[in-house]
Amino acid sequence: MPSPAGLAKSQTMTSHTEYLVQQGVPGLLNDLVESIVAAKPTDALSYACKYLDNKRNMQLVGHNMFDLTNTNSQGALKTLNTLVGMGSPSSSRFPTSVYGKHVFKGVVAEEFLRAQGLTSADLDDPSWTKTKADQVAAAVLEWGKANGADVFTHWFQPLGGAGLRPGATGQVHNSVYCFNRDGSMGVDFDGKALVKGETDGSSYPNGGLRATHTAGGYTIIDPSSPIFIRGDTVHIPACFVTWHGHSIDEKTPLLRAQQALSKEGIRLMKLLGWDIKGLQANIGLEQEFFLVPREAYYKRPDLQLTGRTVLGYFPPRGQELCDHYMGAFNQLALECMKDIQNALYAIGIPMRTRHREVAPNQYECAPLFGVAQTQIDQNLMVMQLIEEIAAQHNLAALFQEKPFSGINGSGKHNNWSLGDPNGINLFNPKQVTAASGKTEIFPIVMSAVVRAVDKHGDMMRMAIASPGNDFRLGACEAPPAIMSTYLGEDMTSYLEEFKKGTVKPYEPKVKTMSCGVDMIGDFTVPAEDRNRTSPFPYGGNRFEFRAVGSSQNVSLVNTVLCTMMADSFKAFADEIEGGATATTVAAKALDAHWRCIFNGNGYGESWPAEATSRGLWKIDSGVEAIACLENTKNTQLFDTLKVMSTPETLARAEVMFNQYTGTVEMEAKCMIDMIRQHIVPSVKKSIARAGAPPTGCPGVADLESCVAKLEASLHHVESEGNLKAKAALARVLRLETMDECRKVCDAVEARLPAEFWTLATYKELLFLDSNQSAKC
Ligand code: ADP
Ligand code: MG
Repeated sequence: MPSPAGLAKSQTMTSHTEYLVQQGVPGLLNDLVESIVAAKPTDALSYACKYLDNKRNMQLVGHNMFDLTNTNSQGALKTLNTLVGMGSPSSSRFPTSVYGKHVFKGVVAEEFLRAQGLTSADLDDPSWTKTKADQVAAAVLEWGKANGADVFTHWFQPLGGAGLRPGATGQVHNSVYCFNRDGSMGVDFDGKALVKGETDGSSYPNGGLRATHTAGGYTIIDPSSPIFIRGDTVHIPACFVTWHGHSIDEKTPLLRAQQALSKEGIRLMKLLGWDIKGLQANIGLEQEFFLVPREAYYKRPDLQLTGRTVLGYFPPRGQELCDHYMGAFNQLALECMKDIQNALYAIGIPMRTRHREVAPNQYECAPLFGVAQTQIDQNLMVMQLIEEIAAQHNLAALFQEKPFSGINGSGKHNNWSLGDPNGINLFNPKQVTAASGKTEIFPIVMSAVVRAVDKHGDMMRMAIASPGNDFRLGACEAPPAIMSTYLGEDMTSYLEEFKKGTVKPYEPKVKTMSCGVDMIGDFTVPAEDRNRTSPFPYGGNRFEFRAVGSSQNVSLVNTVLCTMMADSFKAFADEIEGGATATTVAAKALDAHWRCIFNGNGYGESWPAEATSRGLWKIDSGVEAIACLENTKNTQLFDTLKVMSTPETLARAEVMFNQYTGTVEMEAKCMIDMIRQHIVPSVKKSIARAGAPPTGCPGVADLESCVAKLEASLHHVESEGNLKAKAALARVLRLETMDECRKVCDAVEARLPAEFWTLATYKELLFLDSNQSAKC
């Protein structure tokens, strides 16, 4: 964005208006600036008030009013820059003019690359990092300058980043300037600076791959994900590795897994008579989250410090009637969502869907799908921007998987398909058969998926073992911790016939339906119904991994999905090269792994027992799921396909155990503090007033005994040396001891007169709908 000074130089109305259009500034702000330029401070003030009122963004009032009444356009434009820089053009009328402006690709990049003798197509071949890095750097520099960004950062994804780390990423900001001996300033940003950065690797979770005395860490550009600008900073998506080249991040193994998938996919398809130039996993992430009033959030140390409520009496109304599900938007939340959407458009994130979810104050949004690594980079920005913009609206965004007990938690459905560079989707029977001219390829690919789910379901379960997911899986709000796939009746019988030797096109039945109203025509519905109880259903030419946690960086999830598919493709290709017939290989795999196909009710009482008798992966504890990483089957799987070396895989397990234990320690300590600093004093005050605690209300002694139990359990956890055993003890502390203590605290809250309760209640946190005049 141009500096205020630069802008003030162009004094004509047209240039200001052009500037506003460029920035995608909405009408009201446009009016505001035009009135400032025309030296009409009263009008300006009125527009500013309307704008701020619209946004209900009282935070801005303090530092803006002075500038807004200033007829000096430089001061006013500084204010404007602040507003726009916060990424919040409310209710922008022309998002198409903003979309992708801050992403270095396509026409946006082309304008600056041309001056360097390149085109945007040069960015499609990753070898530019070796041969054209200086020219691209010069173009990025100019583009940055034109957009007011004179800082750059290699933006990476340290291990253990999901959950509490701000933005879930790592970033060191470097100015593009150099400072000369003669006191002048210059610019110093070349190809080397763009492609590689150096930082300290030791203070990030690294599972023993780094120590403080051997701390070197390197950030290397990921040329498959576009560079973007946020505020004054050019973000360069990057891998993060140690001095030895070990990955200590989420992105590197994902890129290696995509590479393995592509290599084995090309190889198998070639053996099947179809030449493809590459293969990649495409994903679309449905992000669920809560928006709660910020004032109430500040009265919940547990939410502030751990992201979930460790106690809280359940209000008379929850989600009994599912009345929030896809209900009309709450107006406060809607304003916030609009700003979020606009900020996402500016950095080229194709957000498409927004709606309310089933729990009160719970929302979801989903973009158009795309290549996994870019979708993940974008999802991390989605979460960061939702948090930042919610704060501007005096709301707090919660991404933890289970912030409130008694109502649904949040997930992040990972819609997943495999595509070649021409956009042919391997899970789309018509497309793949038309492109390859081979009917057998589609059922062979589906057989490879079935084999992968059955063989490596333990790794799928491991990949979703975020600490918060331990509260959801198996609780009939997310699919159970049993790995199976729903294919629907038509697909299942199609594969059944394929198993028996029939190779034919997949032609699912399409049902014609009527809703019984003559004036409304008949309509068609697909063969597969939706099965919300399956962790991995097929439908709409994709699989949907439904059990993923909302706070997760889904790199590991997609690393696993790509690796297990690469493994199936490799196994099939090996056998075919050994002389076997492709359809026989696939049919044999289907036979061996058929057990993981389950089209029934995954929430049904009989399913866990049946799944056990089928021998499926059923891992209830997140800690046990993490421990599966250490099994030889899995270290070899990742090692053979060059996704992670064994030390890298074992390091990951260590980081995950530590993250689990650390999360629980914080939660337990928070609970202790809340009992001591809030609940006990509340009970004492009530007794002082009435002479005795209310009938049925636990007393101070009961609460003190809870604290003693929590402290003893914490001590037990802290004195355990083995990381897995420590995490297992932490799980007991969390799911048993803390739960027992919570019941006592909730009983106090239920009985105590409201005037003595000092923490925000569930009612205050969850019912923004009946509190629309809240200062949000
Ligand atoms: P639902 O009705 O299942 O809630 P949403 O619209 O909320 O659907 O989200 C579906 C997600 O799946 C979107 O991000 C969409 O782009 C993505 N998606 C659709 N087709 C594919 C595909 N072939 N591969 C990967 N993701 C896909
Ligand atoms: Mg959805």
